[in-house]
Amino acid sequence: MKFEVLILGSSSATPIYGRHPTAQLVNVNEQLYLIDCGEGTQVQLIKYGVRSNRIKHIFISHLHGDHYLGLIGLISSMHLVGRKDELHVYGPPGLKEIIDLHFLHSQTVLRYALHVHTTQDDVQDVIFENENLLVSSFPLDHRIACTGFRFDEKKHLPTIDREKTEAIGVPSAYLSLVKRGYDYTASDGTIYRWQDLTVAPPAPRSYAYCSDTVRTPSYLPFIQQIDLLYHEATFLHEMVDRAVDTYHTTALQAAEVATEVGAKKLLIGHYSARYKDLKPLLQESRETFAETQLALEGNWYRI
Ligand SMILES: [Zn+2]
Ligand SMILES: [Zn+2]
Repeated sequence: MKFEVLILGSSSATPIYGRHPTAQLVNVNEQLYLIDCGEGTQVQLIKYGVRSNRIKHIFISHLHGDHYLGLIGLISSMHLVGRKDELHVYGPPGLKEIIDLHFLHSQTVLRYALHVHTTQDDVQDVIFENENLLVSSFPLDHRIACTGFRFDEKKHLPTIDREKTEAIGVPSAYLSLVKRGYDYTASDGTIYRWQDLTVAPPAPRSYAYCSDTVRTPSYLPFIQQIDLLYHEATFLHEMVDRAVDTYHTTALQAAEVATEVGAKKLLIGHYSARYKDLKPLLQESRETFAETQLALEGNWYRI
């Protein structure tokens, strides 16, 4: 099953050096989910060949402009191209008011149903679930209400070991039961354990998105043992005082977080405009957490 993330925007605050404000697209089994929607996100979607009507769910971390100023434009364009499918947007208190106010004054009645769900910034909360995936929000520590998002793939059923079941002669009608954990009793009374007739599924994978936050221990319980951790790394550690003042994180701190939670891989982004060259951020993070990569726009990262 496909589980990967496309970086659409990697800049903090303002667009610069060809970098755009934050947005990411997660593909889980060909279902597309947008995380944050900085200005220019719809242009980036076109650039990277993503049809916006395939997006059914949009998750907004907080109401700083670099994370959501592209949202009204994207919602409007979906309306203009005749979208019919409903759209779900998840975000902090105030987001619904902003969207409603915009369409009130533009006298626009959307052609599709738009559902805005308010996230909570004080508790972890499951906000979306389907047969493949569970998405939860969790509180971060920023100047205003801000949440991260965690994507957990659901556990798959094991696959049938065809060679064994055919050799034993397990009736095909019984195979779906074996997959669900029922043993098979042959006509001679021999019991075959379901574990011996199946191949274990791959372990469920997980992705966590830690948007703007100061480094605190408070959110670490929500991102334990994550396969791929995206963490903002706005500054080099020499700017740690500025990072604390502005409720942001340094590349070193992002690496420490990844180490502490037992992440397999780390993706850093949300780069300050003071860094044209991103290599020093990568180098600083890799000194503590070797499996670090830079979030680069247009790149897909497999989870
Ligand atoms: Zn930001
Ligand atoms: Zn912010």
